[in-house]
Amino acid sequence: MATDYYAVLGVRRDASQDEIKKAFRRLARELHPDVNPDPKTQERFKEINAAYEVLSDPQKKQVYDLGGDPLSANGGGGGGAGGFGAGGFGNFSDIMDAFFGNAAQRGPRSRTRRGQDAMIRLEIDLNEAAFGTTKDIQVDTAVVCNTCSGEGAAPGTSAQTCDMCRGRGEVSQVTRSFLGQVMTSRPCPQCQGFGTVVPTPCPECAGDGRIRSRRTLTVKIPAGVDNGTRIQLAGEGEVGPGGGPPGDLYVEIHELPHSVFQRRGDDLHCTVTIPMTAAALGTKCPLETLDGLEEIDIRPGTQSGQSVPLHGRGITHLRGGGRGDLIVHVEVITPSKLDPEQERLLRELAKLRGEERPLGQFQPGQQGLFSRLKDAFNGR
Ligand SMILES: [Zn+2]
Ligand SMILES: [Zn+2]
Repeated sequence: MATDYYAVLGVRRDASQDEIKKAFRRLARELHPDVNPDPKTQERFKEINAAYEVLSDPQKKQVYDLGGDPLSANGGGGGGAGGFGAGGFGNFSDIMDAFFGNAAQRGPRSRTRRGQDAMIRLEIDLNEAAFGTTKDIQVDTAVVCNTCSGEGAAPGTSAQTCDMCRGRGEVSQVTRSFLGQVMTSRPCPQCQGFGTVVPTPCPECAGDGRIRSRRTLTVKIPAGVDNGTRIQLAGEGEVGPGGGPPGDLYVEIHELPHSVFQRRGDDLHCTVTIPMTAAALGTKCPLETLDGLEEIDIRPGTQSGQSVPLHGRGITHLRGGGRGDLIVHVEVITPSKLDPEQERLLRELAKLRGEERPLGQFQPGQQGLFSRLKDAFNGR
């Protein structure tokens, strides 16, 4: 027996059970004899059944993967890829699944379902991102209806057993097929599968068991959050239909741009422009950092594009503590308008330094760190 069951189902050898099941269902729908009675297709249908019988059963799959033939080994398949032996019934329910949805879910379905997750955007400034904060937010979600406590029935009334399906939530039908008599079930049309009907829905929630409500929540924002960080508040999302358990609420952080600092990870960057003379002579620049006023020490002889790092003055690391750095980039401004006196002094300086006819030094086109950083910020 050299049948390649993986090839028959069109899946890779490392396919998961889920992938195997999906592949089988797809093929079963396509090749089912009721849909496609052509004998060749029926042969193929038997093949995919055999393949699925082996690959969906971990024990048989293992035997097969080791080179054995589980179908003849346990006699279940009789003639190899022959129809529906011992494992046939398992396949059968999967075939039914393929046609009628999840047949495993039997009996009336609950009116109560888990609610959906909700998301809310929250704008914070850089300072709040750096050190964390506490915010009151307004949330608008479904909550359990107080009038009916989520049951959906008007006060004084209650849900009643559906008389069409007698509470089973499904109605059955017997049909003949090549497999013999087949009983198929579908959700009861009168109660939509709930097994109960609500004759008098709650006037407050129209029978949904929940109403929309606005409330205020206090959210703790940890230090170090960034644009797009989501904070999960378990159980603060939408209450489900029938007053079902609520989903979660996600607070998505949007960090407002700062007028001076640009954030890259947990580091902050800013640029200070100083005149040429200050760059040559050295100076101190006051800078309002997140931690208050600090003096930036510009050393004599600073070049345009150099930077001064202030360690630990950036954003708190969200995990692990500690803080990023604040990096001050220095841009040196060359004076563009000189009055006669200034020009005379500069010419004198140039003469003293022997720079009246300086020979510039050319280097292969390399950009300074500063312009590269700027490009990175601008996304170029
Ligand atoms: Zn209600
Ligand atoms: Zn019913």
